[in-house]
Amino acid sequence: MNKKYLFLYTVGPVQSYIEQSRKTHDLYAGSRILSELTECVIEEIIKKNGANEIVFPYYRKNGGEISYPNRCVSIVETDDINNFGEYIDSKVKQSFSSKLNLTISSDKEAICKRQVEQHLKTFWSAVLYDEKRNYKEQYFNLEKTMGSIKNIRAFEQIDEGIGKRCNMCGEQRAVIFKDSRNKYLLKNNEGLCTVCYLKRAYLKNEKNIFPCTASVSLANWLEFIKNDEELDKIYKQYINLFPKNSYNEQFLYRHNITKSIFKNENIDLKYIKLNKIKNKLETLLRETQKRAKINEDNLKCTPIRQRKYYALVAFDGDSMGKWIAGEYFRKDVDFKQAQKTISKYLGEYADWVKANLKITNQSLFGSVVYAGGEDFLGFMPLENLLDTLKELRKQFKIMISDKLIDFKEENKEFTFSAGVCIAHYKTPLSHVISSARKMEKNAKKNSDNKDAIAISVIKRSGEINNSVFRWRNSEGKYLLDDMKFIKEQIGSEVFSDTFIRKIDRELYDMSYGLKKEKEKKTMRKYKNMIISELNRLIDRSCLVEEKKLEIITDMKNTISNIYNNLEEQDSNLENFVSYLKIAEFLGREPNED
Ligand SMILES: [Zn+2]
Repeated sequence: MNKKYLFLYTVGPVQSYIEQSRKTHDLYAGSRILSELTECVIEEIIKKNGANEIVFPYYRKNGGEISYPNRCVSIVETDDINNFGEYIDSKVKQSFSSKLNLTISSDKEAICKRQVEQHLKTFWSAVLYDEKRNYKEQYFNLEKTMGSIKNIRAFEQIDEGIGKRCNMCGEQRAVIFKDSRNKYLLKNNEGLCTVCYLKRAYLKNEKNIFPCTASVSLANWLEFIKNDEELDKIYKQYINLFPKNSYNEQFLYRHNITKSIFKNENIDLKYIKLNKIKNKLETLLRETQKRAKINEDNLKCTPIRQRKYYALVAFDGDSMGKWIAGEYFRKDVDFKQAQKTISKYLGEYADWVKANLKITNQSLFGSVVYAGGEDFLGFMPLENLLDTLKELRKQFKIMISDKLIDFKEENKEFTFSAGVCIAHYKTPLSHVISSARKMEKNAKKNSDNKDAIAISVIKRSGEINNSVFRWRNSEGKYLLDDMKFIKEQIGSEVFSDTFIRKIDRELYDMSYGLKKEKEKKTMRKYKNMIISELNRLIDRSCLVEEKKLEIITDMKNTISNIYNNLEEQDSNLENFVSYLKIAEFLGREPNED
């Protein structure tokens, strides 16, 4: 006889599989593959019985790419739950193995199969479900059961003997190397394990290339070219000088047109004329600069130029576990309904993010690795970074937190904390990912209420600037607005960066220890002195004559604002100076190769 069960299924490992990546495409593919596995779970559950109900995540078919989380909660009907669980599990494993469609030489077949099978860590648990009983209690039981299953099952240690380790994860043995069939996928001397190769080979074709870091850094500049018929023509001619499948945006930087870089990118020098490429690029750069200058003079817009830095942004809903467990719901709400509603709003927000955050011609500029609603990972060019971040945060409130009004306790807001790493396009991606993650953690531990953002700038020189602050001040104003103001004033050369460099130097001389003091009183104690010194420096840093007094007053007010806001947040002087330095960097990115 059929019985009802609460059924929980999880797929892993998540973070390590996604984030052990050498290229942006690896990162993207890892998240797609995992999302497709959860989608497989959901679809199999529904296929088994149309009456089965998915509680979490919000399942939808909207024609687009949906990022599903790695767990699924459902209510299912079956006469044999063990059979049911094993069946779903076998389908997921089948789906994962089937992604490996390459011809492997027979001597490697066994190890490839083993690597794929051993990689995936899936778990399921189930408890009998009684509609008449309290859903919340039954749900907690389900989570508890899952917790103990995960604790008990020890993982078999993999011993694959000695040999070269995979270049991507560094853990498994490398079994796939460059050969005639995969020469566009692997670099010379690169060796991958089977599961990492799965990512590299995922949907890799002309139409489905995830933007590389250079392409993100150059997004604005390229948009300018593509919107100008004449420039676009030159650009297309330029791309055509490269053999099929070998062009990427790093070849828009002059310093990358060298034999050794072409070789490293698997471009056979026999088929190209390096001089022709060099000349065409010079034409493109010259013409673009010319038109950008005209544009700048006529429209008074910020200069269009080649940038070499980009941002990787990660965010994660604050206290997500508590929200899902209903701790912030009012006591009288239908818990299951509340859970389903929160999943739905998260899903709708994720769809909004994906529809609006694009690398071309959008108000929000960026490229999404994944957007699951409560979590996000994506690349953004620096020009629109601050606006994009603010919009993501604002919409999160409007589309999720505000809409939960009928369920949540009145004074609770569902918020998120973000980590941002700004890096040079050549900085190893793994380094950038771990920095963005570290920033996300810093943001979360910045204050008890979380709801913060932490930004790190890693310069090519090795210098690092970190700043962390809550998104809004006590009046609800966004702290990023002031950062944007400074960025624009320096970027359009209304101010030089002297006042920032000097205050940094002076505070450093005063005592490095002072800047590190965490107490609020340090910022308060030195406030008058620092603000009046800054005002003096600002007077001297203004580069324009027209409306000078007004412009200077605006800058002074902005700087005081920032100081007060950070002081209000129990911040410290080092954080304050880093905030200014990051704003300055965004406005006046240095020109480095
Ligand atoms: Zn690997």
